[in-house]
Amino acid sequence: MTEIDPRPFVGEPLALDLLNTRWQEHGQLHDLLETPDGLRVWLSGHGLAERFPADGASLEAVRATRAALYAAVDRPGSDEAARPVDAILDHGRIRPVLTGAGPGERAEVTDPVWGAAWTAAHDYLRLLTTAADRIRLCDQPDCIRYFLDTSRNGTRRWCSMALCGNRAKAARHYARSRGTHG
Ligand SMILES: [Zn+2]
Repeated sequence: MTEIDPRPFVGEPLALDLLNTRWQEHGQLHDLLETPDGLRVWLSGHGLAERFPADGASLEAVRATRAALYAAVDRPGSDEAARPVDAILDHGRIRPVLTGAGPGERAEVTDPVWGAAWTAAHDYLRLLTTAADRIRLCDQPDCIRYFLDTSRNGTRRWCSMALCGNRAKAARHYARSRGTHG
């Protein structure tokens, strides 16, 4: 069964896309993770639906992880904000492995309920290691979406040009023309 992701903006790395399961549209707050069905949609979008359960317990774990990541993204460098994410990471580990194909790594979680949550928290660590200064909140004042700025110069301001950038530009143009003529 494939369910359609109702969100107008997807495609960010797992940790940021978890934050983006809450979004604002026409002044109304939406939340994909209100039900296990929504969790299943989110897991499917990341190829995780086969690996991890989408039941009430894992929904709770994923929602707790989302709250922890919000705080951590909001307050980089804060020990207090880091602690809940660190606690989630305690539910799993990376085990080095050796196979015929050579050395590698495998993620192991203590309980499948924490699988998706742990994977998202671990993805956040990966982002901090590789591109901490490229994690951005959309510039559009009523947008709460996060994105990883992969532009060459690091000057991307909006989650999406179509959803927010054009609106911001139109508003600016409107303000300017009012300033000139009125
Ligand atoms: Zn936006």
